[in-house]
Amino acid sequence: MYSGKNLVCHECKKLFLFSEEEQMFFAQKGFTNLPKRCANCRLTARLRRNGDNLEKLHDTNCHKCGAVATVPFEPNGLRPVYCRACYMDVRAEADTVKTSATA
Ligand SMILES: [Zn+2]
Ligand SMILES: [Zn+2]
Repeated sequence: MYSGKNLVCHECKKLFLFSEEEQMFFAQKGFTNLPKRCANCRLTARLRRNGDNLEKLHDTNCHKCGAVATVPFEPNGLRPVYCRACYMDVRAEADTVKTSATA
């Protein structure tokens, strides 16, 4: 049986718990390596990979649906800010306009 293990995060050097559930999940997936990072650093790494600058994240409300949108810049109130889903919509619409204009 599995039991919770304390591992040292390679990134922040803090101890984190590799829980029984996570170990079972890893075993199910066939992963043999232990996780190198704590959950927090894993999330940070994921955000960083998406190109977001964590120090500059601001919470605001989506111009379109009103949901909380986290953006990597300070909203200046002049340009509408969209949540990720609406941003994709808006960008897809803009692309359609652009392609039909050039066609
Ligand atoms: Zn960490
Ligand atoms: Zn939205």
